[in-house]
Amino acid sequence: MALFEPGIGYVDIAAGQLKGATNRYVKTFRDLDGLYDDAEAFAAVIAERGDAVAYEVTDYKPSANAGDIIIGVTRMEPGKVGREYYMTRGHIHARPNRPEMYYGESGLGVMLLESPAGDIRTVEIGPRTMCYVPPFWIHRSVNVGQEPLVMTFAYPADSGQDYDIIAKAGGMKSRIVDDGNGGWKAMDNTAYTARPQALVDSIMGKLD
Ligand code: ZN
Repeated sequence: MALFEPGIGYVDIAAGQLKGATNRYVKTFRDLDGLYDDAEAFAAVIAERGDAVAYEVTDYKPSANAGDIIIGVTRMEPGKVGREYYMTRGHIHARPNRPEMYYGESGLGVMLLESPAGDIRTVEIGPRTMCYVPPFWIHRSVNVGQEPLVMTFAYPADSGQDYDIIAKAGGMKSRIVDDGNGGWKAMDNTAYTARPQALVDSIMGKLD
């Protein structure tokens, strides 16, 4: 087995980037069409800042091998579409039994997790909070603060991402919205449809 060389990256919290990253991608607000409940409010955001970056990911990917890990940084803009806080598209890992770790650098976020069967969990992430996303959970980051949300993450390099699982269900089961007091709360997504049991069983049976 060939040895890899050690990697090094610097977390630039102000920029919200990993300096030394090998990959970078961005999502503009326009890329997030269909995620939000309030179509009129979303159209207003697009009119104002459709091509602006909603969130950015910079990462260091040594390989795509099982047994390796990808490390990186994500930065999310603060704001809301109607009552709903800005969020990432969210995904389950294409190899769903792969976990992930998120570590808060600055800002205030919520990790919204949903099991294939529709169980919901929320984890608030402030600076120095470490959030473990266990295998088999769909996950999405939400910026519930007033400042950019910057987090470091790490996950197995062969995880992959499946975004369609959320779209096919009409979104995640919960939406993270303003509670009216400057905080956040989870509320039901009325467009959500539960996955058939056979699909849940097939996802939960993927063990490698
Ligand atoms: Zn992930």
